[in-house]
Amino acid sequence: MKLTIDSPILKANSDSAIETRKLLSEKKIFALNLLSSPGAGKTTILERTLIILRDKIKIAVIEGDLQTSRDAERIEKIGIPAIQINTDGGCHLNASMIQCALKKLDISELEVLFIENVGNLVCPAAYDLGEHKKVTVLSIPEGDDKPVKYPTIFIRSQVVIINKIDLLPFTDFNLKQVKEDLYRLNPNLTIFELSCKTGEGLNQWTDWLCLQRL
Ligand code: MG
Ligand code: ZN
Repeated sequence: MKLTIDSPILKANSDSAIETRKLLSEKKIFALNLLSSPGAGKTTILERTLIILRDKIKIAVIEGDLQTSRDAERIEKIGIPAIQINTDGGCHLNASMIQCALKKLDISELEVLFIENVGNLVCPAAYDLGEHKKVTVLSIPEGDDKPVKYPTIFIRSQVVIINKIDLLPFTDFNLKQVKEDLYRLNPNLTIFELSCKTGEGLNQWTDWLCLQRL
């Protein structure tokens, strides 16, 4: 007998995620769930993205973090509304946390919502938050074995950002192999190569974002 302890929890989560997605779709708010391991550069990518898009699109951010509100403070400095969710040690965001956070945001004129998940390549993949797309960030220093070691998150994502691409010459990260692994896991992936340090790839990523709006 296979015992799936998580399934009632995941069912409740999925019900509330479906509600959220319906609400966001009705209001024409395009929502992205940003995932990665700790330190892959999610918040820095957000900062650079928001600086490029803040005068063109109405954006808000929900920040998930174990304890601090540092990431939300970084986003607010750019002039973008940010709601911090502290999971108090919890290793992923869930759909009801997003429903609570959305009540605190003025979504009347919003066009894009970013949700920065807790840094973790495992269980955030299992929790639908009501987003339209999952974007997983994989950074060069993490090594090229992550897609094969943590396949689920890459299979469930629509976009992968290979970040810190400027560090490629200083490592044995096999970019060609990683892309082959990613497309084998998920042939429909959109992959961006990006560096927040040099700015490489940022325009391709933000152009894509502008085209995705609901
Ligand atoms: Mg962060
Ligand atoms: Zn977790």
